[in-house]
Amino acid sequence: MQVFKFGGVSVKDANSIKNVADILNNKANEPTLVVISAMGKMTNKLEELVNAYFYKSSDSLLIFQEIKEYHFNIINHLFINKNKSIFNEIENVFLEILWAIEEEPSNSYNFYYDQIVSQGEILSTKIISAYLNEIILLNIWIDARDIIQTDNSYREANVDYLLSKDLTFAQIIPLFNQYKIIITQGFIGGTSENYTTTLGREGSDYTAALLAYFLDAKQIVIWKDVPGVLNADPKYFNNTKKIDEMSYHDAIELTYYGTSVIHPKTIKPLQNKNIPLFVRSFLKPNDTGTVIKNLNKRNVATSYIFKTDQLLISIQPKDFSFIAEENLSLIFSMFSKNNIRVNMMQNSAISFSVCIDNDKYKFNNLILELQNQFKVYYNDNVQLMTIRNYDQETITKLSENKIILIEQRSRNNYQMVIKDEE
Ligand code: ASP
Ligand code: MG
Repeated sequence: MQVFKFGGVSVKDANSIKNVADILNNKANEPTLVVISAMGKMTNKLEELVNAYFYKSSDSLLIFQEIKEYHFNIINHLFINKNKSIFNEIENVFLEILWAIEEEPSNSYNFYYDQIVSQGEILSTKIISAYLNEIILLNIWIDARDIIQTDNSYREANVDYLLSKDLTFAQIIPLFNQYKIIITQGFIGGTSENYTTTLGREGSDYTAALLAYFLDAKQIVIWKDVPGVLNADPKYFNNTKKIDEMSYHDAIELTYYGTSVIHPKTIKPLQNKNIPLFVRSFLKPNDTGTVIKNLNKRNVATSYIFKTDQLLISIQPKDFSFIAEENLSLIFSMFSKNNIRVNMMQNSAISFSVCIDNDKYKFNNLILELQNQFKVYYNDNVQLMTIRNYDQETITKLSENKIILIEQRSRNNYQMVIKDEE
């Protein structure tokens, strides 16, 4: 069996969904488990809805209506017969969301976030599964919350591998006797108390990798809007080159430094079972893309990873003590408690600098905690540039018209935190 993963861009409208159906028609030649994300930018919209509901920052009903119209517009395009049960089913999902946002919040923000934002994946998979059945691509819809079991760390839930493996095996394998295609959601899981959790933004790749791991899949394919893994993000660089094959090791490093093609947690389960991961274009499904697999050679081509909207925080002990083990362990525990990932760090005698993504919901809380114990300074709107297999000429070229705030180099990797010149 194989696992396919389709992200939000690949299912953003009715035509894109028809394209996914074509790909399944041509490429699902063996039992295929299909993991799908929320449609288009719906996860962001649902985040807006949660904020409006929880913080009463804007009109939640308006956002709700917008999300509902978006999905109904798609089903109206996909189904000519308006009496199909999918119309009712989707209506019911929205009714549930509406009930949820009509009640006063009595639990944590993260709890509501997961209950509401997860509906994006429920909606997309229900619609796509019904559409595929409509065009006789017979398939069955599975609720990922019944197989991916997690703890209750809402928004960043930890998967119980053993339990999830047993559940996945017991539920999925028998279904493949009847169906060649099984449709499920990425990104979401369930707790032992039957609440919904999410695995962190962009977590659908991770779900797909876990399911491939549990089921000993022959391969996993992530269908994207790029031809494969490129040596740089075409949003910021011209003349990007596709990397045809890459070792798990190189892939882990790229995701560690923040490449946006694959979620950082994806590689480990696949590497553990030696399952090849293909990154291919859903726009050109016959092209080969990139394969990530067990390879002994290191990729020596230069790659660039550019992260915008970064915060550079500088942390100093209030009493002029050194930044040493005790302070560092306190600082790291605060980062870990707030679920904040450090993209780069550097320390000097009395100051510790870290570069992180600018996520204001996580960041405000962290700063408050840090300020209890330390002097904290920060620069926002900075960028982090990582160059793998660098040379001095490339660094000079990329730092033109930039102020370098900090830089760091190892044998193969160079990183700089930069800001535009004023
Ligand atoms: N829909 C979720 C997100 O946008 C998960 C994913 O797409 O991987 O973060
Ligand atoms: Mg997405």
